Amino acid sequence: MSDRITVTMDQKVISAPAGVTILKLARDHKIFIPTLCYLEHVSDIGSCRLCVVEVEGYDSLLPACRTKAEDGMVITTESPRLTKYRREMLNLILSNHDQDCMTCPANGRCELQALCNRYGVKRSSYQGSGRESKRRYPLVEDNPYLSYDPNKCIHCQRCIGACQELVGNGVLGNRGSGTTHVLETPFGKNYKTSGCETCGNCANVCPTGALTTKREAGYQSWEVKRVRTTCPHCATGCQLNLIVKDQQIVNAEPADGPSNHGLLCVKGRFGSIDFVHANDRLKKPLIKDRATGSFREVSWDEAISYTARHFLALKEQYGADSLAGFACSRSTNEDIYMVQKMVRTCFGTNNTDNCARVCHSATVTGLAKTLGSGAMTNPIADITQDVDCILLVGSNPEEAHPVVGMQIRKAVRNGTKLIVVDPRSIGLTKMADVHLKLRPGTNVAFANGMMHVMIQEKLFDEVYVQEHTEGFEELKRMVESYTPERVGEICHIDPDQLVEAARMYATAKKAPIIYCLGVTEHSTGTEGVMSMSNMAALCGKIGRSGCGVNPLRGQNNVQGACDMGAQPTDYPGYQKVDNPEVRAKFEKAWGVTLNPLPGLKATDVFPAAIEGKIKGLYICGEDPIVSDPDTHHIEKALESLEFLVVQDLFLTKTAKYADVVLPGISFAEKEGTFTNTERRVQRVRKAVTLEGEMRPDTEILIDLMNAMGYPQKHMTPAQIMEEIAQVTPSFRGISHERLDAVGGLQWPCPSPEHPGTPIMHVGQPARGKALFYPAEYQASRELPDEEYPLILMTGRILYHYNAAAMTSRAPGLVDLSGEGFIEVNYRDAKRLGIANGERIRVGSRRGEITATARVGRKVSEGETWMPFHFEDSPVNVLTNAALDEFARIPEYKVCAVWIKKM
Ligand code: SF4
Ligand code: SF4
Ligand code: SF4
Repeated sequence: MSDRITVTMDQKVISAPAGVTILKLARDHKIFIPTLCYLEHVSDIGSCRLCVVEVEGYDSLLPACRTKAEDGMVITTESPRLTKYRREMLNLILSNHDQDCMTCPANGRCELQALCNRYGVKRSSYQGSGRESKRRYPLVEDNPYLSYDPNKCIHCQRCIGACQELVGNGVLGNRGSGTTHVLETPFGKNYKTSGCETCGNCANVCPTGALTTKREAGYQSWEVKRVRTTCPHCATGCQLNLIVKDQQIVNAEPADGPSNHGLLCVKGRFGSIDFVHANDRLKKPLIKDRATGSFREVSWDEAISYTARHFLALKEQYGADSLAGFACSRSTNEDIYMVQKMVRTCFGTNNTDNCARVCHSATVTGLAKTLGSGAMTNPIADITQDVDCILLVGSNPEEAHPVVGMQIRKAVRNGTKLIVVDPRSIGLTKMADVHLKLRPGTNVAFANGMMHVMIQEKLFDEVYVQEHTEGFEELKRMVESYTPERVGEICHIDPDQLVEAARMYATAKKAPIIYCLGVTEHSTGTEGVMSMSNMAALCGKIGRSGCGVNPLRGQNNVQGACDMGAQPTDYPGYQKVDNPEVRAKFEKAWGVTLNPLPGLKATDVFPAAIEGKIKGLYICGEDPIVSDPDTHHIEKALESLEFLVVQDLFLTKTAKYADVVLPGISFAEKEGTFTNTERRVQRVRKAVTLEGEMRPDTEILIDLMNAMGYPQKHMTPAQIMEEIAQVTPSFRGISHERLDAVGGLQWPCPSPEHPGTPIMHVGQPARGKALFYPAEYQASRELPDEEYPLILMTGRILYHYNAAAMTSRAPGLVDLSGEGFIEVNYRDAKRLGIANGERIRVGSRRGEITATARVGRKVSEGETWMPFHFEDSPVNVLTNAALDEFARIPEYKVCAVWIKKM
């Protein structure tokens, strides 16, 4: 049988691969066939009957969505017979569809309306049971963002398919049949407990006004423009359109990007708007009167000259290394590049860093050491589609990277095996083949145990080890003592399950390791990362499709913040500041003599401030009082400074300590780029200009640089990217112009012709050979004792992000989850007399807070877990600032606490 066919469609002769449907063939050749229920890759139930076509030799009409095109077919897609038939179908559909089009939020984008117009159907001639706005069914609209009007539902089932197949959640169902059929939707009174994630992906595919986002009621489709940009929350890098009416963002909708494939999560879809237009946005620069502690509004000229004068005076008095400047992992690559350039050229120090220090610096350091590049090795699509097994360690993507979580759920439903290694029973554990519910802080022992089994059972890739690695013998010796029994004891896991997991991962053809902060945020975080790399290299799962070591980076542009050189040891592109040749290159490019000494890491800057070594600090868009461990220690550090400048959208807790506050602008008001977790540089585009004196961050920085005596010419973000490309070999082929043309590029992209690098280490690891780093297990720094008998872990939840500066300004997200809580094991709760929902006290050696107890089995006995987003439960008052020796990342994931009734 030939693998190609030839058909005639509307008198056009078309050649196509065998096996395609008539509908697909038509769409591929831009021939219109109407559909209402069909959704590509999701639903082809053929119930609307609108896609029927005539095929020569067949008496009956055939549904194009379900009929395969066959060689020699002669197909007609429009004819008087088809028109008559489609009119009749529309007539039937309309009989049970409210026609209040004038006030319907879908007016103008409704597919049913468009087809009725096309086929001249104005009203139904049938008396359906719900015809003409006799509302049989009440609206279901308790959910803050989504609304279901059963009276407009045409029962196409697209939404059910989207929730099941794309989102992998399956919380929509059917009730009744025939004319009494409605959807069982989770948007009613129980919307908080229904399991619905309020992602809105169902509303996105509804062809009518039945299932809508409530924001749609605020505009008509012809009144708005759409601005394609990149989500400002997590590093998945989802593409979205901001919908803008008169300088107001009125909605956001998914766009089809390489990492999100037309999906968004609740934060991207509903949490990307309110903070931009929030009433408490800073609108003017502020200078604090140190005597009174109050701020006064000042002009930009005054703010810039005051700031420059004070930094220069401190430099003069205490030396360049008494100053430091942090970039913001939320802002664009162009902003970040200018922050580190200002710190290096004007302050004269390498004391620059970004918040990767407290989340994934262990990744940057660890993977650079073992593989030669500290970044995710494979693209998201590559590690979630068509893989045999996923080893998910210390990562809860359903909440922290939800669109990745959706793709993992889909993969598992399609047969991919899943190993979850996590101290908590996260959502994905329900789907897992193996869940290793290990003791917090024991990742290194777990990995050593896995490798022990792989070596003992000869499951590893001997050829890869021989040809592409070094240090195998030492690793082999080291893991010898990590027997499943010993590891079972250290990790509190079943040794047999460890063996099962090792076999499953090692023998799978395509198996990525995906990990997150559960691996990095430990005092042995870098060794945890290197242990992930050890496992992958041992099994030869590096440099191959569907494999690799894949850290899910946290904030939207934390990858970019590291790439752009907001690091004390590296210029942009991980070029080392202590390499004389590299330094000479940057001195030539920037026209100054540069400091040869690596700077202080952010987590060392705060103790240095307390010791009086750091006197002046510039913080762009970070809120360390909320986000860094041991809040009182950070407060003390900020109080110790002689001069603090904060550039932000809001008067954050950290900004309140500042001497000068400079109002910047949000992602929706600027041009630039973000780099997502898979190293993909994507465009950020300006959607609105808002009232106020806020200024683009790059312009503020350029003014400051000039005021400090560095002749920085004015540059647009596109021109800044040109400069980045000139000084950064891995970005040499990247420009705004090219990104606008191709959508996104994954670095390394060394020339304008280079297509970017989806998979790293192909052929051989970037450092030549993968290094096996033999890491012995070391216990966490602060373990439970009699006084502090429980382990506290921290993490993210679906509805908020980090310090919640953005998400807490979305009332709907606060409604969905607005209160700090602590997960407590039911046995501990029973012992302590704590009831579910009760507000309790939580204390560590560093402080005490309150939180609402969630009692259950998510955490093991002796362990607790808290999210770090909520003002009413500021968990970083409790966390430990113990640092990893390599990357200086703090141990957010383990500290010892007590819990008590109020
Ligand atoms: S909002 Fe998302 S999770 Fe909820 S029903 Fe719709 S698709 Fe499913
Ligand atoms: S709500 Fe919309 S997508 Fe879902 S079945 Fe009804 S018409 Fe179809
Ligand atoms: S998964 Fe991340 S990038 Fe995507 S919409 Fe959600 S928050 Fe935004």
